[in-house]
Amino acid sequence: MHFDNRFITHLPGEAVARTGRRQVMGALWSAVEPTPVSAPRLIAASTEVARLLAIDPDTLTSPDMVAVLAGNRLLPGMRPWSANYGGHQFGNWAGQLGDGRAISLGESVGREGHRLELQLKGAGPTPYSRTADGRAVMRSSIREFLCSEAMHHLGIPTTRALALVGTGDAVVRDMFYDGNPRAEPGAIVCRVAPSFIRFGNFELPAARGDTALLAQLVDFTIARDFADCAWNRPLDPADSAGLEERRAAWFADVCERTARLIAGWMRVGFVHGVMNTDNMSILGLTIDYGPYGWTDDFNLDWTPNTTDSRERRYRFGQQGDIAHWNLRCLAGAIASLFASTDPLHAGLARFEVEWERLERENAAAKLGIVGDDTAALSLMRELQPILQAGEIDMTIFFRTLGEIDPVAPQASAFEAAFYDGARAASTAEELTAWLGRYTAMLRREARSHDDRRTAMNRVNPRFVLRNYLAQQVIDRVEAGDEHAVSELLEVLRHPYDEQPGREAFAARRPDWARDRAGCSMLSCSS
Ligand code: AMP
Ligand code: MG
Repeated sequence: MHFDNRFITHLPGEAVARTGRRQVMGALWSAVEPTPVSAPRLIAASTEVARLLAIDPDTLTSPDMVAVLAGNRLLPGMRPWSANYGGHQFGNWAGQLGDGRAISLGESVGREGHRLELQLKGAGPTPYSRTADGRAVMRSSIREFLCSEAMHHLGIPTTRALALVGTGDAVVRDMFYDGNPRAEPGAIVCRVAPSFIRFGNFELPAARGDTALLAQLVDFTIARDFADCAWNRPLDPADSAGLEERRAAWFADVCERTARLIAGWMRVGFVHGVMNTDNMSILGLTIDYGPYGWTDDFNLDWTPNTTDSRERRYRFGQQGDIAHWNLRCLAGAIASLFASTDPLHAGLARFEVEWERLERENAAAKLGIVGDDTAALSLMRELQPILQAGEIDMTIFFRTLGEIDPVAPQASAFEAAFYDGARAASTAEELTAWLGRYTAMLRREARSHDDRRTAMNRVNPRFVLRNYLAQQVIDRVEAGDEHAVSELLEVLRHPYDEQPGREAFAARRPDWARDRAGCSMLSCSS
């Protein structure tokens, strides 16, 4: 592997590793050494990510490689650092946050020039750890490892996960912040992405009035992370109008990517749970898997995050609005680089146009309608309150919809998606009427039933990482059965396929999981 570590070779930072938590001024990163762990062991790995990095997957199990994945050893060329960033948390400016437990090992550059940064999450304290320990527990690491890969296989942009390692060390957490701390097994996820830059990386120098540092970071990001974009052409450094135009095109691109990201989440029922601006990737990747969840019964008001249970700022149905709010924060942060705010308003308008287009596209694709996406969106808007009032499983419903006979539709076909007989019954009439309107539209379309079902099965997954499935794996790992992680990963590799024999992984949430911690309620404690 070849590492060029451009983030730290091209941007100002603290080159000498100093321990101690503090405000780090005028610097975008700090050199930091991972803290070794006592008994690292590989629990699971993604062979696809290994191949992306030109690592032979078989070598991942070697003690030398496990030591690297645990932060006990560095490969030649690795120069670990943590990034300095701020963020808006739950709507309020939080000041400096930074990588409190993430340590980047290096930026690997592949033979075709593609860049992938390796980052350990849970590798020990950094200057940005504030009062926390820089570690991560097994349960949250399993969830991050599995969901990163699940998201990728669903076709939604995300940071990836190379490996999940158990540390052999205990980590103390008070899971529900209720005065009941307990020792839990520690773990480390090795995350991989072309860039881990977040909105918050720009917000911090902006909040400190450090415009020069901000401009440097913006232009660095454009050059490194957006090199292949059509709008990104070589510029004469003296061409200040051209420079501003390029920065405007970049912001508009970020707005579009963000719209695509959230539309992807909405299509599959994913709720991020903590859409703070420090958790928003500049590349529009899903990043920082914490108290995320998948809506089982379709519920736009649902959030898995107990820390947000009152306001429900980050609920399923509000993710688009929040993304726009976060983009406004980013716009505000970079505004000092523009002569007027017009280009920023233009970028934000791009978000709205793209969002509306994607809403129609999602509706048409999920319903299998090709002729009229505006009509498809109307149908979708009529369907959503029925699904919500009837407490109907989102994933099973849409997958079953592909099987519906357009000539003789039956509401009873959806029985496997019902959680509550009485609630389903109370909406049966409405659902039947909706099915009548839906199938009337299908009958007007030229596409054959088989073609439509095939197309629908490519956007309506059969298998998603339901919260209870992740929790079952966590329980099994705690009981010593670590193979459970790889077993579920294998299912999640093919989310749109039928996978005979694995039907159990597609089942709706069982009753025991309804109110169980980890299944419907998750805290930020991780
Ligand atoms: P999150 O809510 O996971 O996005 O984290 C918000 C901030 O808290 C980030 O700056 C994290 O790096 C930091 N943080 C979260 N957990 C820990 C931990 N155990 N040790 C150090 N920093 C942490
Ligand atoms: Mg975060």
